[in-house]
Amino acid sequence: MMASPSGGEDGVPRALLEHAVAWSATNGLGMVVNDDKGLFTSTHLPFSLLPYALPADSYEQTKVLAPLFNTLVDRISRDGPWLKEVLKDVLAGDDFTSELVRIHETIEAEGGPRQPVCLAINRSDYMLHVPEDGVTAPHLLQVELNTIASSFGCMSALTARLHRHLLSRFGDEPSSAGKAIRDHAASVGIDTTTTTAAGDGGLGELIPQNPTLTALPKALAEAHKCYGKPDAVVLFVVQPGETNAVDQRLLEMNLWDHHGVRVVRMSLAEIEASGVLGEDGTLTVDGGAVEIAVVYFRAGYAPNDYFGRAEWDARLKLERSTAIKSPSIGYHLAGTKKVQQVLAQEGQVERFLGASESAAVRRCFAGLYSVGPDGDAAATADAVAHPDRYVLKPQREGGGNNLYGPELKSKLDAGGATDDELRSFVLMQRIFPKTQPAVMVNRGKCVSGDSISELGVYGTYLGGGEGKELLNEYAGYLVRTKMEGTDEGGVATGYAVLSSPIVG
Ligand code: ADP
Ligand code: MG
Ligand code: MG
Repeated sequence: MMASPSGGEDGVPRALLEHAVAWSATNGLGMVVNDDKGLFTSTHLPFSLLPYALPADSYEQTKVLAPLFNTLVDRISRDGPWLKEVLKDVLAGDDFTSELVRIHETIEAEGGPRQPVCLAINRSDYMLHVPEDGVTAPHLLQVELNTIASSFGCMSALTARLHRHLLSRFGDEPSSAGKAIRDHAASVGIDTTTTTAAGDGGLGELIPQNPTLTALPKALAEAHKCYGKPDAVVLFVVQPGETNAVDQRLLEMNLWDHHGVRVVRMSLAEIEASGVLGEDGTLTVDGGAVEIAVVYFRAGYAPNDYFGRAEWDARLKLERSTAIKSPSIGYHLAGTKKVQQVLAQEGQVERFLGASESAAVRRCFAGLYSVGPDGDAAATADAVAHPDRYVLKPQREGGGNNLYGPELKSKLDAGGATDDELRSFVLMQRIFPKTQPAVMVNRGKCVSGDSISELGVYGTYLGGGEGKELLNEYAGYLVRTKMEGTDEGGVATGYAVLSSPIVG
């Protein structure tokens, strides 16, 4: 990498880079690098040095959509027959989803959940699609809806603070750092001349406040209050060796500091070993000394969270309990990609939402198709002819599972997969966002280039059953940026960095 005249790498002013890395270290924008049984050391999370420009109307639209998707998830989750019908096609080709469905069926067979109240911390992910016609304005298309372990909420609040800090500290300075910020803003179409005078925060005020640090703890605290026992605790279900534990810990600290609610952290295996389900469904740990009010899953969304039967037994035990689950098994299944695909079919979303709400939600649906013997033959043929216009998705979470280009083509081509396997996928229109210049910072090193970004929008919901909405809120945002040409996303998986929107 070339050193620039101002001493930075890749033309990035050294002062700006140094300041950004120091800010992240002093404010806990971190990830775990080494974990010795919970005694971890951390480094800064990969972040984008400067923010991602998002049109104001798109930003506002995501806030309107958040509560609608919350309600949708709750209603779907309480329609067992519909869920069963929708997911039946994926079962034969997908053991993992089959296990989840089996838990759902077991609970139904036992007379339904003993705890009707469910807590959702959802995150709907979007990209700003640029239509090929060159005429239609760019608009948001939903990539997916996450209903389990929607992560990075707390770290994204810190990223927004980082960007506010950098833009207000340097934005109107005559230095090379200030010039780099103004040049970036200009290159992504942000008018800096009118905004610097607008408020004390200068350019930093163009980064919207990100309420995740208050909204997510509030949702967990509301659920805890609903359970009704002040001494009971929130159980964080975690993966052994989790690198994103700083994000989780900040949530935990805020829950205590602002709501006086305690957290215990356990893996599924630990829950199976020491969690006890009482006759009345009360769940306790620590030899009966600690009662669980709320179960918050930050694990359990992927097959490799279940090393054997013990973890599945733990999941069923949690589901059978009277603790409030985030998510319940129904909420979890409502977030599958198969559900997303079926909702896009005519009349499906309309089963659950009113006409205007359905229309609002539908506006952000991309093309979604089923594949296999009874799938969408026209879409499948088009995908084989133009694999780069589609993404093929299995029922998986956590990044790194989708198929693109030649891999997609060979799966869909005659003989590339069994019928059962094909039925377990969904085929999706590929979204093509406009690129923006970005500088990605990872362990103090910079990489510059053209990037694309994905906007995640959190929604919190406390469903009381029978349509009762005890809480239904927009709860903040996340921006993940990756270099153009990278198919997959995900910060945890190493493809992307955290960023923030600059709204102009
Ligand atoms: P996961 O649940 O594993 O995160 P996603 O559906 O979010 O699954 O896909 C992972 C990543 O793949 C996304 O973050 C995005 O970068 C990319 N991706 C997924 N769907 C599309 C799409 N339709 N168009 C373009 N990129 C996509
Ligand atoms: Mg997901
Ligand atoms: Mg995703």
